[in-house]
Amino acid sequence: MDQLAIHRVLNKKTYYTIESDRYYQSATFFKKFMNCEAATMAELKGIYQPDKNAKALLVGNYLHSYFESKTAHDKFIKDHESEMLTQKGTLLKDYKVADSMIATLADDPMFNNLYVGDKETIVKGKIGGVKWKGKIDCLNLERKIFLDLKTTREIDRKYWNEDTRMWQSFMDEYNYPLQMYVYQQLIYQKFGVMCTPYIIAVSKQDIPAKAVISIPPKRMDQARDQIEEMQQRVEEVKNGLKEPMRCGKCAYCRQTAVLRDITSMDDLIS
Ligand SMILES: [Zn+2]
Repeated sequence: MDQLAIHRVLNKKTYYTIESDRYYQSATFFKKFMNCEAATMAELKGIYQPDKNAKALLVGNYLHSYFESKTAHDKFIKDHESEMLTQKGTLLKDYKVADSMIATLADDPMFNNLYVGDKETIVKGKIGGVKWKGKIDCLNLERKIFLDLKTTREIDRKYWNEDTRMWQSFMDEYNYPLQMYVYQQLIYQKFGVMCTPYIIAVSKQDIPAKAVISIPPKRMDQARDQIEEMQQRVEEVKNGLKEPMRCGKCAYCRQTAVLRDITSMDDLIS
């Protein structure tokens, strides 16, 4: 099999490779395109690597691996032991918090009753003629539900949306309905079962808060509409048919900016 063909077969090893992201669309990359086309294209070309906040990502993976299986969690600890410890050899504070986050879910009867099913199921399919991929934290076809674990700063934190001029929750801020809509479609295409999504949220506070969150059908419809509306443009940019637009604000745009004109002090904030 040639290198490209290898990355079209989705498994644990190939799922998070850039080759796979070039071939398949995903909720993560679709959202990146909506934030900044130029940065996303640079990332897909391998010439720009966003600061992924490696530590936050690792802590998230640590928590996910615990609820995947004991084997996955032990492997995570074995692979990352040195990054998890301070110079004195004690566990980093982030991992202590992560252990509290794990404990608050692991000791909760409702969570234990809900979070049952196949873990880390990879799905793929087509949405509007485009190949998409997804990875489901927990899928239960018999109960017709799937669950996604999300860690967040505070579950009731408000984020200001400049476009709608309204406050929104972390669910909107990170456009989780779009991800859940995509997963729902891909699960349906693969298994023929229409499943309801739930987010299990746990906060990164010293004493973590938790919630099981549903997504109203109207929000899923809006996510579908958003993909229908934006997908053609995203595909044209991704395939090099249209010039990627710069958002002008993200790290990539700042890093590659050159001064061209003079700004009036009255135009600095919108
Ligand atoms: Zn940008």
